Amino acid sequence: MSAAERELTVRVDGTRCVGTGACARTAPGDLELGPDGRARVLRPVSDDLPNLTEAAELCPVEAITVHSAATGELLAPRY
Ligand code: SF4
Repeated sequence: MSAAERELTVRVDGTRCVGTGACARTAPGDLELGPDGRARVLRPVSDDLPNLTEAAELCPVEAITVHSAATGELLAPRY
């Protein structure tokens, strides 16, 4: 798989986020808690699928989604 094929886009639905911070602890390179107490994405493209998958799957309100930047396929969460 090429580097471009591994590129991920991460989104946080701020209307769902309840600010637990769990995602920021799990994927600190990609997610942090903003000054409004809600998670926000740190970089437009990532390649950290393992940590982002864990973050998306442990979010209690299903606010995080991870897609393939190349194809748009939903990669996480996968319950
Ligand atoms: S795990 Fe979910 S609810 Fe908790 S801060 Fe991250 S996005 Fe918000």
